[in-house]
Amino acid sequence: MEPRFIDKPKGIIWGRLTDEYDIAACCDAARRRHDPLFAPHGSFRHLASGNQEGALQFLERFGPLEETRWPVDVNRNSFPSELKVKMVGDIARTVRVDMADFWDKHITFRTISQIYETRTNAKALEGPWKILEQNWGRTGLLGRFVGLPSDYRKYPAPPFITDFWNQGPKQKQEAACHMAYFAVTHFLKDLRPWWHLEGEQVRFFVRPNSLWQMIWNSFANDTTEGPWRICATCNRVFYPRRRDQDCCNTRHQTLWSKREYARRMRAAKAGARKRSS
Ligand SMILES: [Zn+2]
Repeated sequence: MEPRFIDKPKGIIWGRLTDEYDIAACCDAARRRHDPLFAPHGSFRHLASGNQEGALQFLERFGPLEETRWPVDVNRNSFPSELKVKMVGDIARTVRVDMADFWDKHITFRTISQIYETRTNAKALEGPWKILEQNWGRTGLLGRFVGLPSDYRKYPAPPFITDFWNQGPKQKQEAACHMAYFAVTHFLKDLRPWWHLEGEQVRFFVRPNSLWQMIWNSFANDTTEGPWRICATCNRVFYPRRRDQDCCNTRHQTLWSKREYARRMRAAKAGARKRSS
């Protein structure tokens, strides 16, 4: 989309939908180039929380997470009149993005993705889990949670989020997978099946209703096709070429290997000192 008018006090961006693009092709390109930033879900994961400039670039490149068209809003008189003039003749392509909603969705996807990324490391998992806990009310995920306002208590507690902090490492790792599963099933629950007729050929497929759903769909696909990793040197997301790849490129891999080696040597020396004393 092309952002046309930013209503800062209200946190609303008005824009115009531009060209259509093929999200599946973006995901294929991301895999081919081992770079998740080519795909909307990788780019959304990589975006830093609260980075307004980055959010605008994301919207320009991939479009709004959900398409809220203008007639809904013009009825509520919230359509800025400066814009009405500019948009004449272009009404059908006008969209409205509520940035509070954008950032709610962002923290949800980012933290759940981080929880999934660190699922084999109970210690590393605690950071994103804490952030998710603190922002639970923004996620749109249902479930009772200790310390939350009563609105969130009306649904039965998923057993895996009630007492994470009292669990051992193994259970924490399981809880991470449960949480990712919980989110995927929640956000993809109304995925619509479609069919396509080509001559005598018929194909059935599911089609997400929005970019937001597509992001979760791509995330789910990645768990089968091989998920991205986070570079141990620069924190960038990448699809590994080999199983033992810890960094996004060879330069970062060398740097990291050297650092790891030094760390191991220090640990060994400290161990030896301890034993001799
Ligand atoms: Zn890197």
